Amino acid sequence: MSDVQQITVLGATGSIGLSTLDVVARHPERYQVFALTGFSRLAELEALCVLHRPRFAVVPDVRAAQQLQLSLCALGLVTQVLYGEQGLCQVAAAPEVDAVMAAIVGAAGLPPTLAAVEAGKKVLLANKEALVMTGALFMQAVKRSGAVLLPIDSEHNAIFQCLPGDYARGLQQVGVRRILLTASGGPFREMPLDQLHAVTPEQACAHPNWSMGRKISVDSASMMNKGLELIEACWLFDAAPAQVEVVVHPQSVIHSLVDYVDGSVLAQLGNPDMRTPISHALAWPERIDSGVAPLDLFALARLDFQAPDEQRFPCLRLAREAAQAGGTAPAMLNAANEVAVAAFLERRIRFPEIASIIEDVLHAEPAQAVENLDTVLAADGRARGLAEQWLSRR
Ligand code: NAD
Ligand code: MG
Repeated sequence: MSDVQQITVLGATGSIGLSTLDVVARHPERYQVFALTGFSRLAELEALCVLHRPRFAVVPDVRAAQQLQLSLCALGLVTQVLYGEQGLCQVAAAPEVDAVMAAIVGAAGLPPTLAAVEAGKKVLLANKEALVMTGALFMQAVKRSGAVLLPIDSEHNAIFQCLPGDYARGLQQVGVRRILLTASGGPFREMPLDQLHAVTPEQACAHPNWSMGRKISVDSASMMNKGLELIEACWLFDAAPAQVEVVVHPQSVIHSLVDYVDGSVLAQLGNPDMRTPISHALAWPERIDSGVAPLDLFALARLDFQAPDEQRFPCLRLAREAAQAGGTAPAMLNAANEVAVAAFLERRIRFPEIASIIEDVLHAEPAQAVENLDTVLAADGRARGLAEQWLSRR
């Protein structure tokens, strides 16, 4: 490994991708961009290529690749444009790459994220859906390849920072009683329940504390995001679902906590800006400047906490059920949620119907043991089919 690290950013045009590039650009002596990938905002991807001069760019299909290749050549760039899943996996696993930021949204991010893991890279995991879907398989691949898996999700990054370095010995062995996973409660935390059926995608995407992509914004509004994060925490830290408690904390300043048997509770605090966990994971075990403003405790003045309301947020209950059922249940939960959220964003269903779809899909079949990736992908496909049927019956 040379001194300058080569970084691949999967999902470079998204919210996490752009924050990652902001941090990377602050430290040109440490990081160089090896590859950038984009899916729909290809003019933005082109501008990012001009700025960061990657060796590779990846787009969805051959036509988009030809188009971007022509534009980049005309601009005098030597960036080579690849396409499709194969292109994504190639730039995730290339021997020159030191670290991969996995920031594609949803199940689409699974193949390149797994490719980075299998190639033993330092993997910065934002794409929680990939881990939720494949759980044990993903963690086994990390062990087998020696990949270094660092959580980007602010809560999991906070938990990682509050755990001792040898937590992989087991939470009980290192004296952890509980993990306290904080949640903002999203934009609908206090809305009267009878108004939830009328909320719009714009309202759901207007998060009070965080600026994020549309899918995770809707997940935050339904609290499915916290449900996915509960499952994510169980896999990352080898915790049982009952060891992870969700705490609503509307200010989003405490990013999560770890409760130890001696009564000590360690928390990580900071302004709600994803450049903090991104910088932490990029530089780990060192620390670098992220561009995030220092936390002003006097301006903040107070921190509030509440128990989550599962009547308001049935997705949280459904995710806990899926976590307890194990096997294919989390993959089915995730797939049904992806279809339901897309339908809500297209104004085909009302907000509370997101949970109804997921509940019906999850209860349509018992969880099956996961033997290999094909078991997971088949379950994902069945769940998407069931959710589509639900939509067409509506
Ligand atoms: P986003 O919608 O802003 O960006 C998504 C990225 O994925 C874009 O670059 C897009 O081009 C790419 N993409 C979308 N569909 C694709 C497909 N089919 N194939 C290839 N690429 C595709 O999303 P985001 O908010 O940046 O979130 C990215 C991931 O990070 C999600 O898994 C999310 O849960 C997680 N995350 C985000 C935040 C946040 O603050 N935004 C915080 C924690 C975790
Ligand atoms: Mg999070």
